Amino acid sequence: MTFRSKAFEIAQGRVAPVLTPPTERVADLYGSNTFSDDVMKTLLSAEAYTKISNAIRSGSTIDREVADEVSAAMKSWAISKGATHYTHWFQPLTGTTAEKHDSFFDLTIDGKAVEKFKGSALVQQEPDASSFPSGGLRATFEARGYTGWDPSSPAFLMDNGAGGKTLCIPSVFISYTGEALDYKAPLLRSLVMLDKAATGVCQFFNRDVDKVTPTLGIEQEYFLVDKALYYARPDLLMAGRTVFGHSPARGQQLDDHYFGSISPRVNAFMVDFEFEALKLGIPVRTRHNEVAPGQFECAPTFEEVNLAIDHNALLMDLMQKVGDKHNFQVLFHEKPFAGINGSGKHNNWSLSTDTGINLLAPTSKPKENLRFLTFLMNVVKAVHDHADLLRASISSAGNEHRLGANEAPPSIVSVFLGKDLTNMLEELVNKGEITLEKGENFYYKLGITRIPNLQRDNTDRNRTSPFCFTGNKFEYRAVGSSQNSASPMIVLNTIVANQLMEFKKEMDERLAAGEEKKVATVEILKRYFTESKNILFEGNGYSDEWIEMAKSRGLSNIRETYDALYAYTTDKTINAFEKMGVLTSRELHARYEIELENYVKKLQIESRVIGDLALNHIVSTVVKYQFKLAQTARSLTDLEMLEEAAPIKEIIKDISSHIVVIKRLVHEMTEGRKTANNIEDLFERAKYYGSEVKRFFDEIRYHVDKLELLIDDEDWPLAKYREMLFLE
Ligand code: ADP
Ligand code: MG
Repeated sequence: MTFRSKAFEIAQGRVAPVLTPPTERVADLYGSNTFSDDVMKTLLSAEAYTKISNAIRSGSTIDREVADEVSAAMKSWAISKGATHYTHWFQPLTGTTAEKHDSFFDLTIDGKAVEKFKGSALVQQEPDASSFPSGGLRATFEARGYTGWDPSSPAFLMDNGAGGKTLCIPSVFISYTGEALDYKAPLLRSLVMLDKAATGVCQFFNRDVDKVTPTLGIEQEYFLVDKALYYARPDLLMAGRTVFGHSPARGQQLDDHYFGSISPRVNAFMVDFEFEALKLGIPVRTRHNEVAPGQFECAPTFEEVNLAIDHNALLMDLMQKVGDKHNFQVLFHEKPFAGINGSGKHNNWSLSTDTGINLLAPTSKPKENLRFLTFLMNVVKAVHDHADLLRASISSAGNEHRLGANEAPPSIVSVFLGKDLTNMLEELVNKGEITLEKGENFYYKLGITRIPNLQRDNTDRNRTSPFCFTGNKFEYRAVGSSQNSASPMIVLNTIVANQLMEFKKEMDERLAAGEEKKVATVEILKRYFTESKNILFEGNGYSDEWIEMAKSRGLSNIRETYDALYAYTTDKTINAFEKMGVLTSRELHARYEIELENYVKKLQIESRVIGDLALNHIVSTVVKYQFKLAQTARSLTDLEMLEEAAPIKEIIKDISSHIVVIKRLVHEMTEGRKTANNIEDLFERAKYYGSEVKRFFDEIRYHVDKLELLIDDEDWPLAKYREMLFLE
């Protein structure tokens, strides 16, 4: 029995576990493992509570006494719930989360055991995390990195299994010199700027708006594979994706998985992690099967951007942990299986005011719709002007397999607004005015009184657009499923903030010159529309015609990650980021380097895995099989059954021809890798990997996948697609 058939047998034998769902109502359970506002209200003095609330709401500084009081409250709350350790929980540029647990337990001078957690430990930690990527921001002499408490994201309790719990304190991670080494620090800076810029523009329409909060809802796609089969796939284990594997006879052609009924085993997993997520205050709401077999989606209700991103990072971690319990491996890779849909992370983004208005929601009131159009057009203009940077923000070795494949948005950044909106904007430019006064152009008139008016653009969706307006928010669909959403959100927030400030500046000038407000607004929006119109596209973004059309419109189509990342270092980017105070030129260059390095490392690992699997698993097995065939052929020949022996000889020859090519290609790929590793310049090295090493991946795969069809199913060493993808 092969390792593979053993694994398959184990996977087939599994049944859905019996769960004992919590007895509490979901509403009572929600946030029970977080140091929430309610907990603080109960445990803190009125003064400390007010101070920390203000800090969370308006970013005022927390003084030392308050920090001491909060840390004391946190400690007693955490210990009462079974915590033994605490950690600053942060998001370094590796793309995962990081934690270094310290025990509350300590000894006094006279050797007595105490539990300690001071304000200073809450506010700051020095994890000596010198192995995290810094892109040269930390020379060895200043290698120290610090983590600092982010009070706007509630501390939470993480179950480590085996009884222990850790108090996790969401934190930023910065260098000794104060430069950002993580995602959160620049994200927070970008959110402050966007609030400021959007509030400024809002005041032209609503004087009572004091704060604008960017909101984000992240739809997370993923695959589930049985653990046993996962371990029978060294490529999944090491590279997160299958580098070989013939497509199953039945893939997703039938579209029968999408929104199909969820299997009991998968359902048990979902129920389990959702409960854990709810306890951590992650408002998970939607679950369904995705297009590909074995693929699923989970989406929480939207939240403030910083919180949504922390929650997504936490959710991914949680899903993996709960997955372990259910003998599932959760695959977050953008393209774990060739020929089958990949996974993304759709980022639904909008802006909401402290007066309760969604600035990207059209209404039936003309005046409000001018405000709506102002924000809409400013976003479009920002995306138009910085399309390459938005593209850079989602570039990775994994996403490269997905973008532009037949199921994911292409590498061309375009914006979908829907017919009604586009027509309305055209009208604005051509006639110089908007017919908003009629008021109700955003609503369907259904004529069925029982059913309320439907908002039109909600139904007018375009799933092929990377950046589409979906009725009351924008949805950036090109984001990779494994990446930290902060990367694209830092960019989006920054370019929109920058754009809104430009808009305000021009408005102020025009108003000062005596122009009427509405006229000034319409004039500017008209110009924006004309300037950024070429990025608007309503058609099929997956089609070849679009690629041609985009080219003639002068839009970029940057296929390769190493080319795409370049946008981080252009003058245009540096200007916008420095003006907004989000990242300095040095920090941007560091990020560029880190991303290039990540890319090189990923390809290096994949290339090694491919070489190792091809020679040590595939070729060696195939040669043994070939020997069996040869013996059979010889026996037949001995019996003078030459006609019967002939087809077997053909198979032997066929197999040999593939083996010869595989051996040659692996050798050439290894040589390519050696050459690449000797290239000093990082960009050139990344480029060499992305072109001269990577090009062997598919070639080798082609021959291995042919062999999969030639050799006896019993003998094939790797778990097959059909075994991994169709979960019972
Ligand atoms: P679909 O799959 O049709 O895009 P879903 O309901 O699965 O729709 O996901 C939509 C996501 O958008 C959810 O996470 C939802 O909370 C989020 N969303 C809705 N309104 C807003 C908003 N104003 N700002 C940010 N996200 C929003
Ligand atoms: Mg969506």
